[in-house]
Amino acid sequence: MESRSNNPTFEQRDGSDSFSAIQRSRSSAPITTGAPQSGLLLDAFDAKLLRDNSETAVSRLEDHLADLSVRGLDLIDPAALSQAARALMTTEHESIAPFDEKRLNAIIDLYIRTGIQVHSPGYMGRQFSGVVPLGGVIDFVSAVVNQPSSFYEAAQLPNVAERIMADELNRFIGWDPGSFAMVTTSGGSLANLTALLAARNKMFPDFWSDGSPAPAGRARPAIAVGADAHYSVSRAAGIMGIGEGQIVRLPINRDHQICMDRARPTLDEAERRGLKVFCLVASAGTTSVGAFDPIDELGDLAREKNIWLHVDGAHGASLLVSDKLRRKLEGIEKVDSLAWDAHKLMFVPAPCTLLFYRNKKDSLAAFRQEASYVFTEDPDIYTELDSGDKNFECTKRPMIMALWALWAVYGRALFAEKIEYLCELTEEIHRVLVEETDFETAHRPEANILCFRYRPNGVGDKDVHRFQLAITDRIKRQGNFFISKVNIDGTAALRVVVMNHRITTEHFRMLLDEIRRVGRDLLRSGE
Ligand SMILES: *Cc1c(COP(=O)(O)O)cnc(C)c1O
Repeated sequence: MESRSNNPTFEQRDGSDSFSAIQRSRSSAPITTGAPQSGLLLDAFDAKLLRDNSETAVSRLEDHLADLSVRGLDLIDPAALSQAARALMTTEHESIAPFDEKRLNAIIDLYIRTGIQVHSPGYMGRQFSGVVPLGGVIDFVSAVVNQPSSFYEAAQLPNVAERIMADELNRFIGWDPGSFAMVTTSGGSLANLTALLAARNKMFPDFWSDGSPAPAGRARPAIAVGADAHYSVSRAAGIMGIGEGQIVRLPINRDHQICMDRARPTLDEAERRGLKVFCLVASAGTTSVGAFDPIDELGDLAREKNIWLHVDGAHGASLLVSDKLRRKLEGIEKVDSLAWDAHKLMFVPAPCTLLFYRNKKDSLAAFRQEASYVFTEDPDIYTELDSGDKNFECTKRPMIMALWALWAVYGRALFAEKIEYLCELTEEIHRVLVEETDFETAHRPEANILCFRYRPNGVGDKDVHRFQLAITDRIKRQGNFFISKVNIDGTAALRVVVMNHRITTEHFRMLLDEIRRVGRDLLRSGE
């Protein structure tokens, strides 16, 4: 152990006489013990098959990525799709079925064809994105080498890459490099839950052992969130035994941000009701409209009231890598924790989420577990990189690898340039919309999300809501575009998320024409 850590040229170890002797004897002698293996078992694991199979997949994926036609989703009746999928399954159950190239081709084709076409300019609907090809390739490598990453010994490079990416991204947050921590989680929802647990356990150190404090005499734990926070926050509360009545909703202003004038009185009022707010959750990019809460001011308020400030930056934390856009998260260095989805605005395969803590010690607060089969009593230079005690997952994908590889190969500017384009384009299409008298915008865009309504003559106030829902649904079914919808102040709006740098204002005008066409059809048919 010692000599290995002192001497990084550990290839030497392989050169030792006894080790290479074992290697030689292993490779020359076939395994002769145990039950006889069928040739088909050996075939299924044959390394050569990897090349054949992946060449099949790669040629199809290349065609898929190269097709830039405008399209959304081919929405298929689940029963019909299930039938098609079943038809691809072998009927052989007794022995291993021989590999069938045609079956593989058909599976890959069906997989590609039935997805939202995230690489097409017609996809403007959701927050996951088309991936940078290299990111997909690294994810493929991850799947084959299969290195679950909660423990250093099982995933050495991913764990080192996590540390490197943490340092790289912390340059845009600005914490002391020696005292912050970062852990990867399978999605932003899980990152929010994890941070909330850490916040709760810090404020209520006995919660983990004794459960919720008895209401009598002691303040009840509570969470404060912006009224437009992502649903994962209240779900996390539910999981933690924090009831709906213990969630303090901070009012939002016209720009859909937490309203600072009303945040303090709302918190004071919660205190009077016997609630002890242990965490304030702000959004850096709300899911509905992409609004950024005033982190800087909330940071001061949280510090004054001794409340943990968590920023849900699942969508918008990526703006930190852009010199032009970073100011939207001004004050980010004041927060206690930050959730950051790389599978949204950093264009890597999902999931890939980074959960940052300002204080390294806090990262250990979320879970308190003893498990001798994985956790060590005395950390050494290897086990100190383990994250199993800080993340919920035991087996966890080495999700950092695609992000790190892209960062290593292309550098930061790949992300900054694309994000800046997406945000600028969203402002541009907002300007386009303002000029169209039959449309109304629902907000000014702060990031790459834009919500609006189609309101031609003949659509009265009471029909607006249903009309937008019907349009979204019909557009999805027609399959030329994929957009989403969201309720804003109780009324549905059409929602566009610009995730693709190949989208131009022309594509957006095409979408508007499609909306008009669909809307007119709906009005004509009286639906
Ligand atoms: C997408 C999103 C989430 C959920 O993240 P997942 O990675 O989908 O679990 C949470 N908060 C916000 C603001 C989001 O936009």
